Amino acid sequence: MSRRLFFGLKPDEKVRNALDRAARSQPDFKGRPPHPEDLHMTLLFLGQVEGRLDPVLEVASRVQVPPFSMTLDRFGFWPRSGILFLRPSVTPEPLFQLVRSLEKGLEACGFISDQQEYKPHVTLSRKSQPVAAEGPGKPVEWNLDRFCLYVSQPAQDPPYYRIINHWPLALP
Ligand code: ATP
Ligand code: MG
Repeated sequence: MSRRLFFGLKPDEKVRNALDRAARSQPDFKGRPPHPEDLHMTLLFLGQVEGRLDPVLEVASRVQVPPFSMTLDRFGFWPRSGILFLRPSVTPEPLFQLVRSLEKGLEACGFISDQQEYKPHVTLSRKSQPVAAEGPGKPVEWNLDRFCLYVSQPAQDPPYYRIINHWPLALP
């Protein structure tokens, strides 16, 4: 069996509504927004994974990072993909710790190699127009207390991403 996997953060309904408001506040907001249940911040993309997931689950269960909050306060746009996104102007240290901890564990068991530089963002729309990169009127505050393992199923109807497991953010 083979599935397309990634680790990510899923906003609760309050944050999803705030993201929706932020997107609509963007004057050049056009394009295709994701299904509300698909709004997420990728932590680490694994790609296609064959066989048993136990080693991946084991790596996730060993993560020791405290809960944290972040402020999504800058729009951005990637011209090649037409992706309009919101990102934190300041990346909280626990977010870096979380990504590094997953990377180290997964590298050690051969699941990933040569990851690109991590660029935290939430995609608000695809096939979008270029936007000026200022912030939304009201920055989106997001409190994180867990992280998730998703399976990506782009061939079916949205939502495309399904959470198959999640772990608390906690120190021992
Ligand atoms: P599609 O590829 O059909 O446009 P998608 O990008 O939404 O759909 P996936 O490609 O399965 O779906 O990606 C799932 C998540 O992982 C998305 O947030 C995507 O941006 C991210 N992602 C995909 N590939 C990479 C990669 N090589 N490096 C970092 N993140 C990635
Ligand atoms: Mg993709």
